Formats: sequence, C-alpha cells, structure tokens
Amino acid sequence: MKRLVLLGAGHAHVHVLKSLIGSPLAKVAITLISPYDRQVYSGMLPGWVAGHYALDDCVIPLAPLVAAAGVHFQQTTAMHIDFIRNEVHCANGNKAAFDLLAIDTGPVADLSLIPGAAEYAISLRPIEAFIESFERIKNTILTRSTQHKIRIVFVGAGAGGIELALAMQHFFSSRVAVTLVSATNTLPGSVGPKLTRILAQQGVSLLSNRVASRIERGAVHLQSGEIIEADIVIAATGATAAAWLGKSGLQTDERGFVLVNDYLQSVSHENVFAAGDCATMMNFIRPKSGVYAVRAGPPIALNLRHYLNNEPLAAYAPQARSLYLISTGDKYAIASWGNFALQGHWVWHWKDRIDRGFMAKYALELP
Ligand SMILES: Cc1cc2nc3c(=O)[nH]c(=O)nc-3n(C[C@H](O)[C@H](O)[C@H](O)COP(=O)(O)OP(=O)(O)OC[C@H]3O[C@@H](n4cnc5c(N)ncnc54)[C@H](O)[C@@H]3O)c2cc1C
Repeated sequence: MKRLVLLGAGHAHVHVLKSLIGSPLAKVAITLISPYDRQVYSGMLPGWVAGHYALDDCVIPLAPLVAAAGVHFQQTTAMHIDFIRNEVHCANGNKAAFDLLAIDTGPVADLSLIPGAAEYAISLRPIEAFIESFERIKNTILTRSTQHKIRIVFVGAGAGGIELALAMQHFFSSRVAVTLVSATNTLPGSVGPKLTRILAQQGVSLLSNRVASRIERGAVHLQSGEIIEADIVIAATGATAAAWLGKSGLQTDERGFVLVNDYLQSVSHENVFAAGDCATMMNFIRPKSGVYAVRAGPPIALNLRHYLNNEPLAAYAPQARSLYLISTGDKYAIASWGNFALQGHWVWHWKDRIDRGFMAKYALELP
C-alpha cells in the first residue's frame, strides 16, 4: 500500500475527497489531517454574519465526505514535516507517514505588523475562531440593555473586512457604530468607489489613509496620533503564510508560501503537492483567493492520481482573471470582472445561487 496524506480540508482538498468517491485509488491508504471536522466556506461567512444564512448552510461536514471517499480522518493540526522519515508531525503527538503528501492548509492571519493586535483584536483567521468570537459578540450586543452604541472598529479594508463590516452594520443596525480603518486613500480594485458609496449609505464610517500603529484594550492608535475608541476591534489586516511549511524545508516564495510548478508540485520535493492560498505557482502570479483555491481542486486531484499511477503529470494554467462577488450586507452585492462591475439585489441572488450550488456538491449524508 502507498500512503497519501492530505493536510487541510481547504477548497482544493474537498474536491480531492469528492473525486475519490466512486473512483478510489487502488492500493493507496489515504489520510486527511484537519483541525476541525468541517470546512467553513468563507464566501458565505458575511452572509451568516448578516443573518441571511444558518451556520450549517456555510459549512461542509467532513465525516460523510471522508466516509464516502474511504479516507481515514485524523482531527488534529500538522505542525512539521520530517522529510528524512517522510512523516507529518501533528499537534496531538501523532506522526503520519507518507509516500505522497498534498497540502491545502490555507493562510494564517497576519497580526505581526500591529502591536497589540494578537492580544486585543478579533482575527478573521482561523475562521472557526472568528465564528466563536462573533457568536459571543452577538450574544453580548443583543442581550445588553444600555442605549450606548457598541463601537466596532475594523482595522484593514480588504474585501473580506469590508464585507464583514457591512454585514455587522446590517445585522446589528442601530445597536452599533461600525468604523473601517483603511491604510490607503481609496478602497482597492475597480469597485473601490462603489464600495465607498455603499459604506456611506449603510452608515459605516470609513477612515481612509490611516495606518493603525497599536491596538490596546478599548482603542486603536493611528500613526497620525489619532486614537479611535472601540468596544470591539477586528483585525482584518490580511493573511500570510504559515511558518511551519518553510521551516520544514519546503522551498517557498519570499512570503513563505509553498512554491509549486505548473503541476502544483513542490519545486523542492517531488512527492509533495500544494494548492490554494498556502501555495504560489512559480509561473503564475495570481491573487490568494477562494476562487483560485476552488479552481485548483480538479488539477491537484488529477495529478495526485497520475503521480501514484506513475503517469505523466498534467500542467495547469490558472485563469488570468476571475469573477469576484462582494456582498454588502442587505442582500445586495457587487460583481467585479477586471475593470467591469455591476451591482444590485439581483447580483446578491446570483451569488447566493452560485454559493449554494457549490455547497450542494459536497452535501453528503452519513451512510
Ligand atoms: C471573511 C472572508 C470572506 C472571504 N470571501 C471570499 C470570497 O467571497 N471570494 C474569494 O475568492 N475569497 C474569499 N475569501 C478568501 C478565501 O477565504 C481564501 O482565499 C480561501 O479560504 C483559501 O482557500 P484554501 O483552500 O487555500 O484555504 P482554507 O479555506 O483556509 O482552508 C484551509 C484548511 O486547512 C486547515 N488547516 C490550517 N492549518 C492546518 C494545519 N496546520 N494542519 C491541518 N489543517 C490545517 C484549516 O482548518 C482549513 O480547513 C474570504 C476570506 C475571508 C476571511
């Protein structure tokens, strides 16, 4: 038996699991290592925060998938890869030996640039920890009796932060005052001006061209000397690579993401494949996003199969552009394709159909 170990149940790996159902790999023992028994679909997370979805609508339960795929599941976190013994060391003390390894562990929150962020701010990643924090916030805000508005300050104005700020403003309405601190003068991308208008319409205060220098309990300090008082601070400052991948000896790009070739194969270790945000394709500079992570599912599934069968690997060229659908709280969304953008309630319903269609592909019942 050969041993294939899948690290992380990210967007690409749920496709790998699905591809094994009804089409198993002969003489291969497959293990999935994941810290949680479900995979949250981040594209629907703002919709959950806004109150449009139940959490169950936004998660892929892993137990039915691994059962149907004939995959052994270890619920733990990978910490290190020992390339002398070809073993993954896990947080629970287990070691998983492999002949072939696939990595789709996503990014980690980048809290290092702002002192105090790790201690006093809620981070968007791990998404499971954000979910727990939001449940607590919800409980506190909805059950309190005073009239004082809860001040929620988002530090970082990327697409995820903007969507969540608008979602919270929509959900809590007059109970909160939401502020978004943006380091740049304009919001990113061709949809920046549209988003700026929508933030103003929805009552979210946008502080542009302000760089947070420190976060402490109850306040965000800016480089300008201003101090923004806050009851809740959310660090939406972006994501970075998990350090353990490079420390294990895998060749990475300058930011620490696993460097892979056109086959999604590590450039330093031929028995390692990687996809999604944790990987950078050396010949294709693409944004780190769920869209590209989803697209990498079929090619990595195919090449794992080819590698195990000693067949030639198939090159993959990710598309140059992709469609982004950004929800704005009230069942309204903006669609962006390069410099072209559309908006409306119909865009939200279109996004809703796409998202629910994606989730339906992985919604299996336990046998
Ligand atoms: C609020 C929010 C909204 C977003 N909305 C969009 C959107 O609308 N469109 C879009 O394209 N992108 C969106 N993104 C970005 C998107 O979430 C990421 O690009 C995407 O999740 C990357 O997918 P992935 O498969 O690489 O990793 P992930 O989805 O992060 O999956 C990685 C998996 O690996 C597991 N894992 C992590 N570390 C380990 C470890 N050490 N060992 C084992 N398992 C591990 C994690 O628990 C997780 O299950 C959003 C992000 C956020 C935060």
